[in-house]
Amino acid sequence: MPGIAYRAGDGRVVRTARRPAVDIDGIPRPDWTLFDVDQYFEITDAPSAFGVEEGENATWRTMPVSTARGCVFSCTFCHIVYQHDPYRHRKTEAIVEEVGVAIDTYGANYVNFWDDLTFYKLSQAEKVVDGLLASGHQFAWSAAVRTDLFGNPKIPYEKRLEVAHKFKQAGCVALGYSLESGNQQILELMNKRIRADWFAEQVAILREAGITSNTSVVFGYPIETRDTIRETFAMCESVGVYPSVGFLLPLPDTGMYTYALENGHIRDENAFLDSITERQDICLNMTQMQDQEILDEITRGCGRLNEQLGLGLSEESYVRTGGYRKHTKPRNEGRPERNENDVSFNYSNQMFDMGPEDGRE
Ligand code: SF4
Repeated sequence: MPGIAYRAGDGRVVRTARRPAVDIDGIPRPDWTLFDVDQYFEITDAPSAFGVEEGENATWRTMPVSTARGCVFSCTFCHIVYQHDPYRHRKTEAIVEEVGVAIDTYGANYVNFWDDLTFYKLSQAEKVVDGLLASGHQFAWSAAVRTDLFGNPKIPYEKRLEVAHKFKQAGCVALGYSLESGNQQILELMNKRIRADWFAEQVAILREAGITSNTSVVFGYPIETRDTIRETFAMCESVGVYPSVGFLLPLPDTGMYTYALENGHIRDENAFLDSITERQDICLNMTQMQDQEILDEITRGCGRLNEQLGLGLSEESYVRTGGYRKHTKPRNEGRPERNENDVSFNYSNQMFDMGPEDGRE
């Protein structure tokens, strides 16, 4: 049977052949009758977590809808479950139908399109958004995109702005996409295939359309210096966006994990994997700086942004460092403090031929 691993009688771990990716339009949609959905509504706060204002009397009933699996890109720090499978996105009709069930059967008024990458190019996005508009569904939503969806200048500005307005009209309130770094050389080491200045243009277009931008940054590539950290914060300051700060966390099967092994930064893989916490801790420092130097520079950058944007954050909450267990408490022990734009993203490691349509190579 392909796609499984088991321990054989002699203690060896045996992995069978890889299972080919399935057609996601052939998978039935989730059967929510098996869940106490109301209990989930009580504890869901997706709109506020995504930087969306909770109106004074607003009661959000948030449901997830998955529209795609995997990603078309192959960033060197990114690991996702589907990284060896091609990017697959569902048909517009299936997405619209599932949204309709969430609204009509469960009274959802907010849908979180819960994907690694919801829209990989403008024409795909526009098709889904046209479908949502035609359905007449009234709901708010957020999704995961990239900086090149509205930021790539190879598509005329007016067209990008027009689609952004359509997003808004269809209920989009926030989009998550990552700047990662304000330094172009680091972006290239990341294999992001974006330009830092596209980020500024995307923020401007979305702002004009009335859509919130949530972003994250990754510090700690081997060529990171005080100056490159400052460049990243300068970009955030220039557009007025507070990022979710994270550190490079090399995970197995990623380019940076291979780099860390080959360059002796990881000597004992099991010990390293046992020691890691999450992206908001420095788990492995491969730069020429001390941990404290990095943290000090980040604290200065976050502090400037905090002041510029009038966020009123305490210094301890600029980056939620301290280890997974320290800041992940059961909900009944009090909610972890989150920054307004504090959204963690999933990443994949998949190449895909996108064709010439949006000008990517
Ligand atoms: S999901 Fe991962 S591979 Fe895809 S663009 Fe985002 S960071 Fe890169």
